[in-house]
Amino acid sequence: MSFSHLGLSEKVLAAVAATGYKTPTPIQEQAIPHVLARRDVLGIAQTGTGKTAAFVLPMLTMLETGRARARMPRTLILEPTRELAAQVEESFIKYGVNHNKLNVALIIGGVSFDDQDAKLMRGVDVLIATPGRLLDHNERGRLLLSGVELLVIDEADRMLDMGFIPDIERICKLVPFTRQTLFFTATMPPEIRRITEQFLSNPVRVEVSRPATTVATTAQFLARSGRDGAEKRDTLRRLIRSAEGLKNAIIFCNRKRDVATLHRSLLRHGFSVQALHGDMDQSARTAALEQFRKNEVTLLVASDVAARGLDISDVSHIYNFDVPIHPDDYVHRIGRTGRAGRTGTAITIVAGSNDAKAVAAIEKLIGQPIPFMDNVAGTPAMPPQQATRHPQQPHRGGRSEHHRRPQRPAPVARIEDARSRRVPPPAPKRAEDGDASHLPAFLLRPVTVKA
Ligand code: AMP
Repeated sequence: MSFSHLGLSEKVLAAVAATGYKTPTPIQEQAIPHVLARRDVLGIAQTGTGKTAAFVLPMLTMLETGRARARMPRTLILEPTRELAAQVEESFIKYGVNHNKLNVALIIGGVSFDDQDAKLMRGVDVLIATPGRLLDHNERGRLLLSGVELLVIDEADRMLDMGFIPDIERICKLVPFTRQTLFFTATMPPEIRRITEQFLSNPVRVEVSRPATTVATTAQFLARSGRDGAEKRDTLRRLIRSAEGLKNAIIFCNRKRDVATLHRSLLRHGFSVQALHGDMDQSARTAALEQFRKNEVTLLVASDVAARGLDISDVSHIYNFDVPIHPDDYVHRIGRTGRAGRTGTAITIVAGSNDAKAVAAIEKLIGQPIPFMDNVAGTPAMPPQQATRHPQQPHRGGRSEHHRRPQRPAPVARIEDARSRRVPPPAPKRAEDGDASHLPAFLLRPVTVKA
C-alpha cells in the first residue's frame, strides 16, 4: 500500500514524499480513507504509531476548498498539553508546505492572549488548543465554535487523567452537532467509552494493537535503592556515572516537586540537566525541550504529564527515579528510547515494598520480568563522565578529567554486558520499510478495523 491509494490530494502527497515516508503506517492506512469520506473515527492508538499524520494529512486535503471567517475556526484539534499542541502545529507546517494560504493557530496557556486574539481575528483554518485556554477565549466572546466542521480530540485518556473531561464535554456542546469527529485514545476506560458513545456518531473504529510490550531493543533493569530522597538521588548519580554509551537520558519522577528537587540536586552535582514539568511557564518548557532535543543538555528530568507523547528520537537512556504508579506510564516512558530500532536502556529505581508491588504490576502488563542490576547501591561514587557535563561547564577545581578519574574501576554491573546476556538481538530490518529512521518499532504491528 502506498500513500497515493488513500485519496489524499496532490499537494499533500508531494509533501509526504518530501518527508521521505515510503508507506503509510497501519493507523494511517486504515483511518485516512474514512476521514476523507467524512466518517467519525475512533482511533485506539497512541503516540508513535503515526496517528498525528493520520488526521493531519486528510485535514489538509479537505481544507483545500473553502475559506475561514474571522473568529470562526473551520477545524479544531484538542490536545492535553501545550507541548503536544505545538507538536501538532509542527506537523501542519511540515505536511502543509504546499498549502500557503492555510492559517493555523495555536491557543495554549502560558502565552499572550492578545497575539492569539489577533490570529483568531484573521480567520483560522486549523485551531490547535488546550481545553482551558480555548474556553477562556470562548467565554470572552472572542471565539465562536459554531463554524467548526471537524473536531479532533487527541490523547483522550490523558485528558481524563488531567481532569479535562468536563471541559471536553463543554466544548463538544459548543461545536455544531453536524461536525465530523475524530477521537484518539490509547486506552478505553469507562469514562472515555461514555464520551465516545455520547459525542461520536456511528464511528469507524480503527485499532492499532497497543504497545503493551516494551520495545525489544530496549534493555530494562531494576536498581535497588534506599527509600529516602537523598539515597535515591545518590543511586541515580551512580547509575548515570557508570552508564555505558550514555548519550542523553530522560529521568522520570512521579511528582512535579520532585522534578524540581532532583533537577537542582543534579545541577549541584555538576550534571548537564534541564527540567520539564507542568508548573513551568511555557517559554521555560519550550526552551528546556529544545535544549534537550539539540543535545545542548544531556539529561532531562521530567514528569509524565509534560513528557507524554513527545516525539524525541534517539534517547539512549531512561531512568525511572520513581516507579510509575500506572503500569501504562511505564510503557510510555520506556517508549522514549529504543526508537527506530536503535538500542536503548531503561533503569527503574526500586525503593521499598510499595515500589516492588508497582513493579510486579508493570511486569504483568508487559508480560516479562525485569531483572535487577547487581551492586548499584554499594558502589562508591565516581565523578561525572565527560558526556554528562555541559559543554561550557568548567571542571570543578580546574583539574583535568585525567586527574579526576579514580584509579580502580567501579564495581558496577555493566549494562552493556548484561544486555548481551539478557536481551534478544534487535529484529532484522525489513526491506520494504524503506528509510524509517524515526519510525518506532511498534508502528509495524497489525491493526484491526471494524467499520
Ligand atoms: P506520531 O504517532 O504521530 O507521534 O508519529 C510518530 C513518528 O512517526 C513521528 O516522528 C512521525 O514523523 C513518524 N511517521 C509518521 N508517519 C510515518 C510514516 N508513514 N512513515 C515513517 N514515519 C512516519
